[in-house]
Amino acid sequence: MSPAAVTLDDLPIRDDLRGRSPYGAPQIDVPVRLNTNENPYPPSPALVADLAEAVGVNAAELNRYPDRDATELRAGLAAYLGHGLTTEQVWAANGSNEVLQQILQAFGGHGRTAIGFEPSYSMHPIITTGTSTEWIGAAREDDFSLAPGKAVAAIEEHRPDIVFLASPNNPTGTAQPLSTIEAVLAAAPGVVVVDEAYAEFAREGTPSALTLLPRHPRLIVTRTMSKAFAMAGTRLGYLAAHPAVVQALLLVRLPYHLSTLTQTAALVALRHRDELLGTVDALRRERDATVAWLRGKGLDVADSDANFVLFGRFPDRRKVWEGLLAHGVLIREVGPPEWLRVSIGTGEEMAAFRAAMEEVL
Ligand code: PMP
Repeated sequence: MSPAAVTLDDLPIRDDLRGRSPYGAPQIDVPVRLNTNENPYPPSPALVADLAEAVGVNAAELNRYPDRDATELRAGLAAYLGHGLTTEQVWAANGSNEVLQQILQAFGGHGRTAIGFEPSYSMHPIITTGTSTEWIGAAREDDFSLAPGKAVAAIEEHRPDIVFLASPNNPTGTAQPLSTIEAVLAAAPGVVVVDEAYAEFAREGTPSALTLLPRHPRLIVTRTMSKAFAMAGTRLGYLAAHPAVVQALLLVRLPYHLSTLTQTAALVALRHRDELLGTVDALRRERDATVAWLRGKGLDVADSDANFVLFGRFPDRRKVWEGLLAHGVLIREVGPPEWLRVSIGTGEEMAAFRAAMEEVL
């Protein structure tokens, strides 16, 4: 058989991976990219210079492995999170996706289950099944909120080893009240992962699940530098939990998983956090303006606590997505069938989005 004739189906891969699709946000080079919830503002020249200098210093020691436990970085992340958190309660990896994978490796696996409330982040089921854990998709309400009673009932029915609660949720932007998270914690027999990738964008009065950590040793709160911190290319995600949870993750992480360069870049980002997080207010304002504009066009728009907006409903959403792309604006075809998601960009990018929408509608 020639190499070209071999397909995935010819390989002896795991039976449970057969027929599955990989994560696939299109990476298309267009003028206005509003499809992966990145922060549109690049680092300043001062930050780039600081980063280059720090990398230069570390480059002289790249013959050595990095700090395996990323202690300085975890201390910095704990200080950033506040809430009295310590280094022992914080863990970091290559993006929060890797953090989530390590959680599944430690608390999931063959014969175990994880539940999530859909529509939600597509990587939760992919990481779950990738670790041979069974995925249980439970439904949200029509307005994408989560009724605590129903969430508790689903947990009592399935007794999952892991519960995923994304707050604010992707792709809907919906944040969970602490009371719902507490109800879930009371019902869950295993760990509860509150995925707070977008926490910094939440509207006033939306508290973080970090406040619940002192009373809940099975609660894990995950965060990332990919969104508000504007460092998606660095690949740095982290979590806060009870120190025993971090000890569990040490059992499954690969040694030296966080490169010296990654740790250095993340430490520089923490030093410059005022600048990096300084874009959050502008993005929130742009988000709220986008919600209002789309509603003004008579569209359905989900309330958003994140840096993206889910809007609809389009009987043929592909046509709208393609129409925007033809005008150089890339958004995301994700979530329920009649909805589309737009990430919040700069003022100019959102003006381009609105102009393209006027053409397409
Ligand atoms: N959680 C949620 C809810 C997300 O939307 C994303 C990124 N789209 C992630 C986690 C993963 O982000 P990263 O691996 O870049 O930290």
